[in-house]
Amino acid sequence: MENFDADVIIVGGGLVGSALALALKDTALTVLLIEGRQPAWDWPQDSWDQRIYAISRASRQMLQRIGAWQRLDADRLQATSCMKIFGDAHGVSLQFDALEAGVDELAFMLENRELQKALWHGLQESAQIHIRTPASPVKLTTDQTGATLTLADGQPLRARLVVGADGANSWVRSQLAIEPQVMPYQQFGVVANFEIEKPHLGVAHQWFMPDGVLAWLPLAGQRMSMVWSCSDEKRAELMALSPAELCECVAAAGGARLGALQLISAAAAFPLRLNHLPETVRDKVVLIGDAAHTVHPLAGQGVNLGFGDVAELAARLAQTPVNRIGDYLLLRRYERARREAVYTMQGVCHGLQKLFNNTNPLLKTLRNLGLGATNQLPWLKRQLIRHAMDA
Ligand SMILES: Cc1cc2nc3c(=O)[nH]c(=O)nc-3n(C[C@H](O)[C@H](O)[C@H](O)COP(=O)(O)OP(=O)(O)OC[C@H]3O[C@@H](n4cnc5c(N)ncnc54)[C@H](O)[C@@H]3O)c2cc1C
Repeated sequence: MENFDADVIIVGGGLVGSALALALKDTALTVLLIEGRQPAWDWPQDSWDQRIYAISRASRQMLQRIGAWQRLDADRLQATSCMKIFGDAHGVSLQFDALEAGVDELAFMLENRELQKALWHGLQESAQIHIRTPASPVKLTTDQTGATLTLADGQPLRARLVVGADGANSWVRSQLAIEPQVMPYQQFGVVANFEIEKPHLGVAHQWFMPDGVLAWLPLAGQRMSMVWSCSDEKRAELMALSPAELCECVAAAGGARLGALQLISAAAAFPLRLNHLPETVRDKVVLIGDAAHTVHPLAGQGVNLGFGDVAELAARLAQTPVNRIGDYLLLRRYERARREAVYTMQGVCHGLQKLFNNTNPLLKTLRNLGLGATNQLPWLKRQLIRHAMDA
């Protein structure tokens, strides 16, 4: 019988890779997680991570099942009860209400690093999961029975299945020679956190503007997080502002709805792009999370899509005889099961981005009519809310 270093090797211990490792902890499978960066868990209690996520109901349920949600500090979680969306014509808006849809909340807002810490602490307590960090592979080969990863120090590691959870610029994907169709948006996401003068009451705001999309997301306490998807020119302008100027500019862009702002986490900018992959599996190898797909952040669904991958893949691996977990047919079934959710989310975000990032006056009229009309259709809003919550 062949000896394997682990049944599953996961490359990348970001949110998605570490969630998959944790989701496999109660199965018969042994897991080895390889992460390139040494994680650091010490930060001042009064500081706030710039990376804030809107976690959907489906993602929360998955995180509860694997025991990560329970480890989060409840004082740093914020439920979103309402979302107000504004078009780029005067007075046009669309409102999604948790109460109206018969649910407790639309999403939970939380910090990337807090969730990452909760996941990693869970991993460290499991005897079945081994972690190598900092470590990076330099070579990947596959054969009939498994895959071999060679680390930078020359050590070969053998597994029945290799999972690429190594982010948007995936090394594993490049080893498989899978070329993503990249659609750069020529846009950046500028993020920053603020203390606010008026309470947010759990309401998220989003403005579709001629030069981008501005989102204000409620953070625990009297705080909010901004994601401004904008042109390179606007990014340069925002990033050059002093903290006081940035506060004034952001407050003015949102009509001072939350009163005066005070910057609590410096602004950071991320390039935005859509990565669409023709295939996400090969014999003995599968890609998940941002390695398999990226979307525009206007719907706040990137990591939720990745957690959807985790739930689906973990469930399939748990039901499969261990010597079959790398089989191409099994992985193809997984790929097909995820395709609709991924394509739909990519299509919706891409369509909205293109619809609003356009100066054609006819399109402007149509998009604002559409927004206003959707607001008059409670059943449609309920469907949209449920779709986003269970994404
Ligand atoms: C501005 C902005 C706002 C966003 N807001 C939201 C939101 O509100 N809600 C939401 O759901 N999503 C949001 N997203 C998307 C979200 O950030 C990503 O979808 C998510 O972080 C992807 O997680 P991942 O684990 O797949 O990849 P990553 O977070 O990129 O993790 C990959 C990991 O792999 C490691 N790694 C990489 N290469 C190697 C290698 N060769 N060897 C070993 N390790 C390696 C890295 O160190 C990293 O730890 C947003 C994105 C942006 C840019």
